[in-house]
Amino acid sequence: MSKTPASGGTTSVSETRTADVKAGHKEFLFPCAPPLYDDPLVLVEGHGVWVRDSEGREFLDLFSGILTTSVGHCHPDVVERAQEQLGTLGHTSTLYMTEARVEVARRLADIAPGRLKRSFFTNSGTEAVETAIMAACLYTGRSEVIALRYAYAGRSILSSNLTALAPWRPLSTSIPGIKHVMAPYPYRCPFKQPCDDSCVEAFARDLEEAIETTTTGRPAAFMAETILGAGGYIVPPPGYFQRAAEIIRSYGGVFICDEVQTGFGRTGDKWFGIEHWEVEPDIMTMAKGVANGFPVGATITTDEIADAWTAATISTYGGNPVSMAGTAATLEVMVREDVPARSTVRGGQLREGLDELGRQYDWIGDVRGMGLMQALELVVDPESKTPDGKRAHALLEAAKDEGLLIGLGGLHKHVIRMGPSMLITEDEIADALERLGRACRSADAA
Ligand code: PMP
Repeated sequence: MSKTPASGGTTSVSETRTADVKAGHKEFLFPCAPPLYDDPLVLVEGHGVWVRDSEGREFLDLFSGILTTSVGHCHPDVVERAQEQLGTLGHTSTLYMTEARVEVARRLADIAPGRLKRSFFTNSGTEAVETAIMAACLYTGRSEVIALRYAYAGRSILSSNLTALAPWRPLSTSIPGIKHVMAPYPYRCPFKQPCDDSCVEAFARDLEEAIETTTTGRPAAFMAETILGAGGYIVPPPGYFQRAAEIIRSYGGVFICDEVQTGFGRTGDKWFGIEHWEVEPDIMTMAKGVANGFPVGATITTDEIADAWTAATISTYGGNPVSMAGTAATLEVMVREDVPARSTVRGGQLREGLDELGRQYDWIGDVRGMGLMQALELVVDPESKTPDGKRAHALLEAAKDEGLLIGLGGLHKHVIRMGPSMLITEDEIADALERLGRACRSADAA
């Protein structure tokens, strides 16, 4: 949109229609997935990092629909390829082969670390996780899985059980065999402050002890996000993943890396977050940024693990031709534009501005992240580190007033999360930082 709608005209719908959408949402949709903001936004158009709402207001989108519009809203290459596919063949199911599905699988095998080569396509991150757990259990012949506290893994019964954030665990009944170990959360490290490399051994000991004391000693898998996204962009200390992968393998289990948020250049320099730590996962899950908004989940693994799944399975929509066309175009753009490198540069620029804000306000307890995945953890004061969800809410609303979309995360919704399109420009980051600076001033006064 670059501040002017592509159509050149206004796209705002009337006030009556906006009110009608809000009333309809309230009356006819499940209330368990509430929209952000006291007065929620009705979005009608988006181009690049800009979105427009039904009242004609423009917003600079630093959250990209939860780190999903990786190459920007309505990227023309993605739109063109998906439109062409929609008019040619819109559906097949997994019963038939298509060129686009094979093209995407080839592209993923090209950029995935190590021996990860075989993909299974689904429609969401939740399903990608379900597929990964099923594959790990079938390969190992075991059924216990270790996950991290503060993890988010999805909304199904299995994945909400793997999730370790109370607000996202709706059922009090648990799936047996899922155990949670300490999250390597440097800002809140219980071993040493500031947390350093020596704490890695302590976190590793906790993992080993959990396997020895809370499982049969024969776990199927250890699963972790390389940066814990919904948990508040928690970046584990260097060395953690090497030790965790070593430990799970020494007990005969596999390492599942959840790259739903961190994949596709998001963390800078590398295609996948785990590559920063030089660990090759046995299974990797992907969604969100892989398809720029099409409903795609993907699980990639080695020949041996994929071959161990001998029982039949099917997915009516997994690898849908239109979704795959959109994904192929997204991956092509990401390679052409070298988004991992862009993420490093633009992420560095964003981080500099955030660090400056961190120095100005003592309620910004921690500034953290990698590449274009950056967060501010808000606290009542730096000594107590008490999470400040109220201030985070005020900042979210103030940013909206400044025409800036940001996200929330963390156990107490006290972490401000950012993750814009990786094609965001230098000027747009500078603009976003100015808006965020003004929003911080308002939230400081609130
Ligand atoms: N894993 C991670 C790390 C996620 O962040 C999410 C979604 N936020 C999921 C899995 C589930 O993805 P989806 O919402 O597409 O089901």
